[in-house]
Amino acid sequence: MSRFENINTALIHGGISIDEKTGAVNIPIYQTSTYKQDGLGKMRGYEYSRTGNPTREALEALIAELEGGVAGFAFGSGMAATTTVLSLFNSGDKVLISSNVYGGTFRVLDKVFKNFSISYGIVDTSDEAAFEAAITDDVKAVMIESPANPLMTVTDIAAISKISHAHGITVIVDNTFMTPYLQKPLSLGADIVVHSATKYLGGHSDLVAGLAVVKDKETAERLAFLQNATGGVLGPFDSFLLIKGIKTLGVRMDRHVENALKIAERLEKHSAVKNIYYPGLKNDPGYETNKKQAKGPGAMISFELKEEYDIKVFFESLELIMLAESLGGVESLVCHPSTMTHASIPEDIRKKVGITDGLIRLSVGIEDAEDIYKDLEKAIDRSRK
Ligand SMILES: *Cc1c(COP(=O)(O)O)cnc(C)c1O
Repeated sequence: MSRFENINTALIHGGISIDEKTGAVNIPIYQTSTYKQDGLGKMRGYEYSRTGNPTREALEALIAELEGGVAGFAFGSGMAATTTVLSLFNSGDKVLISSNVYGGTFRVLDKVFKNFSISYGIVDTSDEAAFEAAITDDVKAVMIESPANPLMTVTDIAAISKISHAHGITVIVDNTFMTPYLQKPLSLGADIVVHSATKYLGGHSDLVAGLAVVKDKETAERLAFLQNATGGVLGPFDSFLLIKGIKTLGVRMDRHVENALKIAERLEKHSAVKNIYYPGLKNDPGYETNKKQAKGPGAMISFELKEEYDIKVFFESLELIMLAESLGGVESLVCHPSTMTHASIPEDIRKKVGITDGLIRLSVGIEDAEDIYKDLEKAIDRSRK
């Protein structure tokens, strides 16, 4: 639990926010692999940086406090966080995943964990009846994203948690798109939160990192063991950068959401737009649920242009917004999910879950909203066949 009532204060003073030894207002980068021992068995709290490092620990304490968990863990990427969390399960266990789950999460289950006899099932977690119907005795975990990538499908985290707990199923939420500033899955009933901190938490497209937070002590001990045993830890310099990024999360998210709302409302009315997916729009099927469980709709928008528009020309006509993988940085980015972020999902599954070749995903940055919209409008105009 956070010592601070308001997250804006916790973002800056949460975790271990000053260096005890010197009073430095930023936790130093402890760029060391090992620590001198004062005698056999006489350590000063640290022995080796895979096991523990003060800069990483400050970050881990911070994310635990922000998400309201008992312990946080920092990894070299979001996928390392997810992989380590999935390593809590055993052969014979089955993991259910949201149908719009991140491509890499699907891939690690399909191509890696399957070889260790951990199976997976894809289910629309926005449909509670469908989710309940997919539960079999071997289901031990469900992994949710809300809103889920790239169609921004919203899942009722509290409802899925309630059903899951009645069946002894662990609820894991990938909170990358929302961050604890907008949504706190543990308080909604989830057991574990994972993040690609590469995105909004880092916020500046200058690092790759992953985080996990757990709600109970027993899982914390098991995950601490796995973090050290499998070794995908985050280095001290990136831990420092991530702490620095998190300090401005509140002001950044406010602007991200404000910009995204303005842009989504205008795109929705644009005659070239066939479909738009953004839970901040009143017509979006996830609007009410998202409003109930989160402080805002985030800043990821997906949309499809009508057939008269050539999306290849659209991407090439953008001048301000960059075509790139990733999201959540201060700069606006676009991507083409079917050939980029979701290319590792087989075509038949992609089609089934609605990831069409015409889909465009926009990560709205914190530039001037008018400038972002003008760039989109101009590229849409130029792409008319
Ligand atoms: C990027 C992303 C990941 C993977 O994180 P990496 O830091 O790239 O390993 C996982 N989940 C979501 C929702 C993401 O956007």
